Amino acid sequence: MGTVIIDLDDTLATTWKAAQKGNRKLLFFFLKKRLFRIVKALILKEDKEFIFQNEAILLLDPSSVIKKFLSQYYPSLPESVKEEACIVFEKAFYEKFSLTDGAIELLQHIKGRYRLCLVTDGSKKWQNEKIDFLGIRDYFDSIIISGEIGTSKKNVRNFELACKGDEKIYVIGDRMETDIRGGNAIGATTILFRNGFFEYERVADVTPDHSVSTLREIMSLL
Ligand SMILES: [Mg+2]
Repeated sequence: MGTVIIDLDDTLATTWKAAQKGNRKLLFFFLKKRLFRIVKALILKEDKEFIFQNEAILLLDPSSVIKKFLSQYYPSLPESVKEEACIVFEKAFYEKFSLTDGAIELLQHIKGRYRLCLVTDGSKKWQNEKIDFLGIRDYFDSIIISGEIGTSKKNVRNFELACKGDEKIYVIGDRMETDIRGGNAIGATTILFRNGFFEYERVADVTPDHSVSTLREIMSLL
């Protein structure tokens, strides 16, 4: 039958746009609370390297990341303020979070033709919440969440768990260093969706078999 492995964040869903809205609201919240050190750090992107290079962050949810940074900049900040910050982020996030244009058509196209597996980075709770918010759980034959298995998609294991020895495998995702690298490592046909934060042309030592700018283009490749 063959297997299609697909990514959630910034492939099937508009995660980066939603996170940007959450981050903006969080910035105003920090200003209101006069937490200027963390405002400065956010504006100057002082923790950018850590956020994009650290593998552990791929296993976490936004609340854990927000609490981690607040504790780092303000070790004695009351727990209630940290909780409030998490609520501010999540509320704004879900106002903007939705399926990417063409996502349902693509899922319906795959369903029945291939085994469909979602392979996604993030905590078990956060990824499951998003899957249910979008109402797409029933499309998948299996769902592999990094936070649940303990390794991120930077590890080929996450992709190996999904393919179950199928001969024909496709991997669809928006990140070169996870989706495309992992897909290439298991011998899959890889399809890069140029979308979200990673939309810009990236220099990487991996090459996808196909590169598309809309989800609808993928249907003719499967
Ligand atoms: Mg992604």
